[in-house]
Amino acid sequence: MKEKSETNLSLESTPTNFIRHIIDEDNRNGKWNGRVETRFPPEPNGYLHIGHAKSICLNFGIALNYGGVCHLRFDDTNPEKEAQEYVDSICASVSWLGFDWGDHLYYASDYFDQLYEFAEYLIKQGKAYIESLSADEIREFRGTLTSPGKNSPYRDRPIEENLDLFRRMKAGEFPDGQYVLRAKIDMASPNINMRDPVIYRIRHVHHQRTGDKWCIYPMYDYTHCISDALERITHSLCTLEFEDHRPLYDWVLDQLVDKVPCHPQQIEFARLNLTYTIMSKRKLIELVENKLVDGWDDPRLSTLAGVRRRGFTPRSLRLFADRIGISKADSWIDMSILEDCLREDLNESAPRRVAILKPLKLIIDNYPENQQEDCFAPNHPQKPEWGKRTIPFSKTLYIERDDFMEVPAKGYFRLSPGAEVRLRYAFIVKCVQVDKNAQGEIEAVHCTYDPDTKSGTPGAESRKVKGNIHWLSAQHAQAAEVRLYDRLFIDPYPDSGDKNYKALLNPDSKQIITAYAEPALCDAQPEQRFQFERNGYFVADRVDMKPSKPVFNRAVTLRDSWGKVAGA
Ligand code: ATP
Ligand code: MG
Repeated sequence: MKEKSETNLSLESTPTNFIRHIIDEDNRNGKWNGRVETRFPPEPNGYLHIGHAKSICLNFGIALNYGGVCHLRFDDTNPEKEAQEYVDSICASVSWLGFDWGDHLYYASDYFDQLYEFAEYLIKQGKAYIESLSADEIREFRGTLTSPGKNSPYRDRPIEENLDLFRRMKAGEFPDGQYVLRAKIDMASPNINMRDPVIYRIRHVHHQRTGDKWCIYPMYDYTHCISDALERITHSLCTLEFEDHRPLYDWVLDQLVDKVPCHPQQIEFARLNLTYTIMSKRKLIELVENKLVDGWDDPRLSTLAGVRRRGFTPRSLRLFADRIGISKADSWIDMSILEDCLREDLNESAPRRVAILKPLKLIIDNYPENQQEDCFAPNHPQKPEWGKRTIPFSKTLYIERDDFMEVPAKGYFRLSPGAEVRLRYAFIVKCVQVDKNAQGEIEAVHCTYDPDTKSGTPGAESRKVKGNIHWLSAQHAQAAEVRLYDRLFIDPYPDSGDKNYKALLNPDSKQIITAYAEPALCDAQPEQRFQFERNGYFVADRVDMKPSKPVFNRAVTLRDSWGKVAGA
């Protein structure tokens, strides 16, 4: 199930934050005897997204830095919505990000027996009771933020009767919804979560791990704190929306002080909000099910499966997590910060290659018809140790259509009639003629070349020209499918409020073209990433790449052009 990560995680320097300060303080005063145990607790009801990556990097990163451990725990208490498919994909994503849970893979369902025992214990202590009111009535009795709740008429049901009903609930005697078990706390509490929350409900459904053993399932708030305590978690890190649940977390563990090994500290941090994307599980599922995207790993989605296929590296996501940091206040992070992290990583790590995305034929009139010769291009301009590769040169080439202008705009230094440019790693050429078809469209440009200017030969670089463009020999270039991806939404906040996010989809977020690639690119391995010189960073598609039919996805452009294009 575990997948080998691409990167060896070293202890990269991580900026400090308020959570690390708490841990440092605990270590100083010996609260946990130096022990640091965290957990990442996804519910297996969907694919992970980039917000989860923040939480994964935080939890696993802390364990790594403090010599502790981080557990991967599936919070599988809602069997209707959960599936093994999600468990598998979550494991794959955490491994891919570069983290290792070792032997610490757990499921909340592992604790169903204990959770049940503890519930009986609470009943016996007079701390929980069986409710006969309907869900609607419970809601009505609960009160509001401004008015206190009312006690249920069943709140003082005798302990023996509670115990009997709870056991019969477990035995399957009652239909869904007939009873629930509630914690007996305080219906007048200003915190609604403390107004006798439901801790068990009846659900006659099959569970993917416990099968048909149970027809009652514990609620999240009750399960989570106990799971943490049983696993001896020291710091239970969660997002801010759980702040109001912390008193309940503590209440449950306080009741069970003699039953569980420790009382972990819940600490909340702000969730990641990222512009131009959505992260709500419900909306992600809608996008996939309504086929508005091409599945869970659509490279435009913010799912980890999606960004992986898009070409993001695990290191770029960890860099992103470090850069945005951890705080107590909600804020929005601009998509360009994420994209910059990828550029930063790939600028270092991606070999350079040449591809022509929008080809225009260039014919060198004074180059012999059947001749060809080798040119040599560095695999990385700053890393001579990466060596060079051969790019064949011949009479008929392809250049980018944008690298020619019949009537050059002011400041345009690329090719135009009469102008000279350097063909990178090759010769200086001069444009002498333009071929047009009957519609007046440019079909080819003709040039002459200067044989004394070949890059890498003595004296060749003495003549300077301003333009420097890339090219491929037409007879050697390989056709490749290139998928030009862009942001999925045109609106920076498609996920917020009650916006109709489906109306905000970017119609140009996916464009498929046939490009020409240099011969070396046919050997690319799936998921190998490259800089296509002057065109951006691309990845060989991990699903569709084949030597006979290369497929590349654009991960990110070389520079942030979105601000200009969208006017955002
Ligand atoms: P839901 O509650 O709708 O199932 P969820 O996104 O909270 O969705 P979980 O599986 O419960 O999904 O999340 C697992 C962990 O990831 C939780 O600890 C949660 O706080 C954290 N998490 C989820 N979304 C974000 C986010 N945008 N930023 C940071 N952490 C997140
Ligand atoms: Mg959640």
